[in-house]
Amino acid sequence: MVRQTIQIFARVKPPVRKQQPGIYSIDEDEKVTSSLEIILPRDLADGFVNNKRESYRFKFQRIFDQDANQETIFENIAKPVAESVLAGYNGTIFAYGQTGSGKTFTITGGAERYSDRGIIPRTLSYIFEQLQKDSSKIYTTHISYLEIYNECGYDLLDPRHEASSLEDLPRVTILEDPEQNIHLKNLSLHQATTEEEALNLLFLGDTNRMIAETPMNQASTRSHCIFTIHLSSKEPGSATVRHAKLHLVDLAGSERVAKTGVGGQLLTEAKYINLSLHYLEQVIIALSEKHRSHIPYRNSMMTSVLRDSLGGNCMTTMIATLSLEKRNIDESISTCRFAQRVALIKNEAILNEEIDPRLMIIRLQKEIQELKDELAIVTGEQRTEALTEAELLQLEKLITSFLEDQDPESRLEVGADMRKIHHCFHHLKKLLNDKKILGNDTVSSESKDQDCQEPLKEEEYKKLRDILKQRDNEINILVNMLKKEKKKAQDALHLSSMDRSEFRHSQNSPFPPGNPEEGQRLLLSSAPTQAQDFSTSGCRSSLLYRKTGMTEEMSLGRQEAFEIFKRDHADSVTIDDNKQILKQRFSEAKALGESINEARRTIGHLKEEITQRHIQQVALGISENTAVPSTPDLQEERLRSQLEEEKRRYKTMFTRLKALKVEIEHLQLLMDKAKVKLQKEFEAWWAEEASNLQVKSPAVNSLDHMKPFPQTSEAQHDQSQILFNKSGVYARKTLPCPCPNPRSQEQSRISTPLGNSIPERPMSSVPLTGDSQTDSDILAFIKARQSILQKKCKCTSVRGSSRATGHPPWGPVGAGWSKQ
Ligand code: ADP
Ligand code: MG
Repeated sequence: MVRQTIQIFARVKPPVRKQQPGIYSIDEDEKVTSSLEIILPRDLADGFVNNKRESYRFKFQRIFDQDANQETIFENIAKPVAESVLAGYNGTIFAYGQTGSGKTFTITGGAERYSDRGIIPRTLSYIFEQLQKDSSKIYTTHISYLEIYNECGYDLLDPRHEASSLEDLPRVTILEDPEQNIHLKNLSLHQATTEEEALNLLFLGDTNRMIAETPMNQASTRSHCIFTIHLSSKEPGSATVRHAKLHLVDLAGSERVAKTGVGGQLLTEAKYINLSLHYLEQVIIALSEKHRSHIPYRNSMMTSVLRDSLGGNCMTTMIATLSLEKRNIDESISTCRFAQRVALIKNEAILNEEIDPRLMIIRLQKEIQELKDELAIVTGEQRTEALTEAELLQLEKLITSFLEDQDPESRLEVGADMRKIHHCFHHLKKLLNDKKILGNDTVSSESKDQDCQEPLKEEEYKKLRDILKQRDNEINILVNMLKKEKKKAQDALHLSSMDRSEFRHSQNSPFPPGNPEEGQRLLLSSAPTQAQDFSTSGCRSSLLYRKTGMTEEMSLGRQEAFEIFKRDHADSVTIDDNKQILKQRFSEAKALGESINEARRTIGHLKEEITQRHIQQVALGISENTAVPSTPDLQEERLRSQLEEEKRRYKTMFTRLKALKVEIEHLQLLMDKAKVKLQKEFEAWWAEEASNLQVKSPAVNSLDHMKPFPQTSEAQHDQSQILFNKSGVYARKTLPCPCPNPRSQEQSRISTPLGNSIPERPMSSVPLTGDSQTDSDILAFIKARQSILQKKCKCTSVRGSSRATGHPPWGPVGAGWSKQ
């Protein structure tokens, strides 16, 4: 059992804008912990706290400042947890912080660069690497991905996501067994045998989540996501199985509003956007208080699911994500306060071992049989029924291996069953008699021959020996040919599967089609995976395209508009960048593949040369009638060291190629995701324009209702920020949608027991116009708008805007248009 308090870490996000200095400082001097001091600017201190404290100090295990990269975060925070999961303990890592503070960036990673991949992909990579190294156990890995939104659980990996809307999917519900263990009904578990399969599941879940979300209701800031890696391990032959779970949790945004009290002096009760975060806090408070007997886990789905991770059988780590800008100071302080309370909770992690019932049954059956046999002997009771065919076969096998065993101490163990003992004696007797007869035959024929055919026998023996040698050689040659054929067939299979995949662009496969013996293990372990995951990535993208009903169904007008939309979208830069990187990686992989093939050939040649050299040496020895030459052959030594060098080069290149493969796969997934996002945003925008057109027609000359094209991610982020007005009712800084989804509007009025309105998750996105007439109208409309915007952008006057974004009505995209 391992007892430890929940580990708390802090991560400070780099500021969006240039930051005013002196807001916080980190003190790393202390040995075990570091401390973070948040300094309140004077103006904020006046209204924020009653005693006008100007600075707050919080302790953390470690604080990662703005420049900490993803690798550092993984090494220091996630790797120790992954290690304990591999050892059989449960682990949880959860990120807590306000929206935009970097929770998703830390847990899943950024959508732009490979180096930005977060804790989940890195942990998967680490775990699978370790599993491959450890051959002493049999491991099985399963993945589940749960989203909790507004107290409802959704399975992000449910294959039905593709065909049905969220409302039709079965909700994930909690069941509790008599031992108070939690079981999640309707949450699917997917086996992942490789890192690539697991990564595909992560991206599939993320895409499902993105598709279910609409611009009207950005659920991602208000839902919790729990990605779980279920690992079981077993030693071969043992009936004991160890189970461990690793939860990687991206919590909803923790922002709350501070209602200023009389005179603005009192920091009063906080209001919560997310009810389950409120319950999480209650659980944390209860756990951190000594002698509390009741912990209110059952109040919310999230606390029920994470029950073991909070005050239970788990090694838990919390990452407080902080966006330490002036406007976020109060949120940052409350995040730190929450972390301080969490740090008081003690957990007791135990090894989760259980007996595999199937193996246990086999073991018990054997034991019962042995006991029965013993009983029969002791009571003198005789078993009369005949031995079965299987039993007889088993006995004969035992006798054969007993006779073949060279060990004089070996024993023939048949148990205490007299029938078996009798059968063994009987069988042995038979064998002995057979041998005797055979022996007599050979002796008599030998004695006959001996007298007259002595010289003939010698000659015959020699002949037979020669034939035998010849046959041996033939067999060896045939076996070699067979091996080569088999390898060729495998290579052809391998190449064709790569052709099907994205690698079809490259003329020659960057991966080596074969492998010298020393690299065999490496290639064998990776070749089938390559074939498999390239084909799965094909499936994956077709799945994603199907999900969003991509381009082939578009009318020409819409396609043209989509091209314009794509070009002006902020994400297109990222997509293009990634395309470039992907191209580079492909050509690097191709070049590497060629070098690997070259190295392979060189290794083959060197080996051949060494063999030739050997044969020459032996021939020389025979002709000179000397034994093996006493002086070492310098030429051979040189060849051998060359061979070693070449092998090392081969291995280095092969390792690099494997890493490249993972990177290529990851980049492709990122691009798929970005494409789906783009398509989704285009459809929403298109539908909006369509409804605008219908309402305002002919509206070509009016710009009042035009919604801008998508903006930079920061602007988007600002746009979706949740604000509270003084009365505590939330409002979002987003444009009023011209074609509001009535369901969403209605749902957004649903109130919670805390008095906040929590909008229900929207069930489907805005319907599109399928009418090609309307589509071409819209295109004409866009073009007209485009020319108007171009004219407008040339003028220096900026129209007054009522929008909270602060952009002119056509938004930053105006700049995009004027670029043309
Ligand atoms: P949250 O999930 O907490 O709402 P995100 O992870 O989505 O926040 O982060 C908001 C934005 O900030 C994203 O564009 C993300 O890429 C960026 N970001 C967050 N943390 C970092 C960081 N440590 N370094 C660079 N960019 C970051
Ligand atoms: Mg997030």
